[in-house]
Amino acid sequence: MKRLHRLVLLALSLVTLGVHAAELPVVKLFTTGGTIQSKGAHRQKLAEYNDGRVSPEELIADLPELKTFATVEPIEISNVGSPGMTTELLLKLAKSINAELAKPGVAGAVVTHGTATLEETAYFLHLTVKSDKPVVVVGAMRPFTAISRDGPFNLLNAVRTAAAPEAVGKGVMVLLDDTIHSARFVTKNNTYRVETFVSRELGPIGYSDSDRIAFYRTPLTRHTSKSEFDISKLDTLPAVDIVYGYQEASAAPLEALVTAGVKGIILNDSAPSFAKGTALAQSKGIIVVQSDRKGSGRVVLSERTAGRNVITADNLNAQKARVLLRLALTKTTDVKEIQRIFNEY
Ligand code: ASP
Repeated sequence: MKRLHRLVLLALSLVTLGVHAAELPVVKLFTTGGTIQSKGAHRQKLAEYNDGRVSPEELIADLPELKTFATVEPIEISNVGSPGMTTELLLKLAKSINAELAKPGVAGAVVTHGTATLEETAYFLHLTVKSDKPVVVVGAMRPFTAISRDGPFNLLNAVRTAAAPEAVGKGVMVLLDDTIHSARFVTKNNTYRVETFVSRELGPIGYSDSDRIAFYRTPLTRHTSKSEFDISKLDTLPAVDIVYGYQEASAAPLEALVTAGVKGIILNDSAPSFAKGTALAQSKGIIVVQSDRKGSGRVVLSERTAGRNVITADNLNAQKARVLLRLALTKTTDVKEIQRIFNEY
């Protein structure tokens, strides 16, 4: 009788577990590499490690707590350090996310990424994912093997956020250090500290705290399901490069880019020599966008810039202005229309 009782209890708990697993939201984990997936030679190696050594399966197995919040299903996109991200990988990532989020059973997506260029990929996805479901880009400042590594807690919080109904409609988010940023405003601010990601002027949109995912604001610029950009049939993007402004900056990089045949140039600041270089670029049909190296604050549209047919980047830093200009150029080369795009996104 005692045995029968135990068997009934076991059967009941298995059924409960099964129902529980079936009720958990499904979160797709797209892995691309970076420090979060890297290993150092020993536990105190914080800055020397090899990108892309930890597999998606190892990431998930390392974190049994994930099962409390979601069924996490991995999809490996790449295994590279983020300076090695390419247009091909970006398009592959965006297309895969769109395909998975279109499935009714999928609640959201998490993307692992190196922190160096994370903001560029996050903003690209913010503009090209065609879904209101949450997409959270996550990384780590310390490798998988480090004492006091930040990756596992960041990943757990990213999955919690991707599974949270409150996160729907907020566009693509970046989560490290318990802090949720909009992909539109976030930037990497420090080479080494775990609190490196900031949204300089406008602040984060929420926090992944132990009691709940707490949101306080939502981005008002266009993104995801309201974006006009469609990459579904693209296998490359127009070439756009960045020119750095500083005292006595020469026009040589600008002229070299014109010779190289780029379609767009982002000036990350001003220099006297840029006026001639810009006119040369424009004479070849190249679109020129003015950003600012301070990386915060708006570049306002003045009669002078408008008169020179230079587009202002609003408060996008140069690397993000590059992402937007590449997408804008898939639709138009009209300066007024591209300025409209910079005003809206
Ligand atoms: N090397 C790394 C990268 O892939 C840095 C990081 O992930 O923190 O960007």
